[in-house]
Amino acid sequence: MTGTGELEAVIGLEIHVQLSTRTKMFCGCELSFGDQPNVHTCPVCLAHPGVLPVPNRKAIEYALLIAAALECEVAPRSIFHRKNYFYPDSPKAYQISQFDIPIAGAGRLGDVRIHRVHLEEDAAKMIHVGESGRIQGSDASLVDFNRGGTPLVEIVTEPDLRSGAQVREWGQLLRATIKQLGVSDVNMEEGSLRCDANVSVRPSGSDRLGTKTEMKNMNSFRFIERGIEAEIARQKEVIASGGKVVQETLHFDPSTSELHSLRSKEEAHDYRYMPEPDLVPIAPTRAMLDAAAGALPELPAGRSRRYREDLAVSDSAALQLSFEVEWAEFFEGVIAHDTEIEPRAAANWVTGEFAAELRKQGDQGLSETRVTPDALGALVKLVGSKRISHASAKDVLAEMVAEGADPLEVVEERGLEQISDSGELEAIVATAIDENPKPAEQVRSGNEKAIGALVGAVMKATQGRADGGEVTRLLRRDLGL
Ligand SMILES: [Zn+2]
Repeated sequence: MTGTGELEAVIGLEIHVQLSTRTKMFCGCELSFGDQPNVHTCPVCLAHPGVLPVPNRKAIEYALLIAAALECEVAPRSIFHRKNYFYPDSPKAYQISQFDIPIAGAGRLGDVRIHRVHLEEDAAKMIHVGESGRIQGSDASLVDFNRGGTPLVEIVTEPDLRSGAQVREWGQLLRATIKQLGVSDVNMEEGSLRCDANVSVRPSGSDRLGTKTEMKNMNSFRFIERGIEAEIARQKEVIASGGKVVQETLHFDPSTSELHSLRSKEEAHDYRYMPEPDLVPIAPTRAMLDAAAGALPELPAGRSRRYREDLAVSDSAALQLSFEVEWAEFFEGVIAHDTEIEPRAAANWVTGEFAAELRKQGDQGLSETRVTPDALGALVKLVGSKRISHASAKDVLAEMVAEGADPLEVVEERGLEQISDSGELEAIVATAIDENPKPAEQVRSGNEKAIGALVGAVMKATQGRADGGEVTRLLRRDLGL
């Protein structure tokens, strides 16, 4: 494949989601993050001889919920397999997973098809100590079995993604969707959501797949985006220079933007899958399927669509609000304040000025702020009904964020109400023109940009209490534009 034509990238994802059940997948050990190592273990998850696994019903229900959210078909009977491999993170020397008949498949989220969804158990956590994290000389590897046996759902997509940016956006949608289901913390830094990407390139328009490389365990979608872009560029270069892409597993180092090879195909595992004889097939009842479908909350993709189509919220604000449930709920509280509030304007205030003011004043989160949705609604209404100017509203908002102030009280105390008497405003405009003859003359002779100085003069004279649009209209009228 040494063609000179355009090449396109083809990317598929494998996402591991740790379920936030109370106990592990096949034993009664509690799940915990950050406890002392090896305190949540038992004969089952430590693989003592003669023990038997018992599946966690809640984990199966969570998997069905994920399958429903991803519009998957659920298998009437799915089977657990043993995936054999020898490594210290697996005391049984196999992982219980699913192989040829997963719990669900043939789904979709946004414009990406879901190939399969399956249930499995997590491995124990290895901590490598020593120089550069590598085992060398006196260096050592430690094993913490607290994580071993944690229920995982693995989601495998079809190779429908075409760029690093698309992977980031879609990954964020998937994370927001699963978070909304309440079945996982989806915290990438703590490893409760892990994403591997298979990357290949091919001539644009071809339906054949090129040789893929696998990028492992990147812990943020920003890094995944950068890693994938670096790998696509590398593969294109290899092909452009007449070479062949070699199947291998790669690690992307975000601090140096370098790709390192972890293992090549020759070392790839043969897992010798075999049916798990100690577990019966999963055969969800009609009642379980109905319960999963009935328990689906409004998901980010649907909410974003509703905000855009029913409430005329801008695309970017709709997306931002939909990805974080707390923000969506806050926004809905703002528009519930009064039916006269325009949702589009409210969404812009929530995601724009309000979010910016929270960041400015000590990076406050929504859970910490003293501003209630109702109070912000009152502010948005004051602006919408032109009782205060946008500039004044920003000052009021700063006081609300700082002190939890009531917007109406601030407006009254500080006399911020807009000049509604048109005669008064006309007089101020006339004075501004008299006192600034130079820009006035420039505007009269066709330099419209010079009007900014006059608008500024009026705003200064009114202390921001005039409606900017009205000021510009009066200036243009008086200057004969
Ligand atoms: Zn256990």
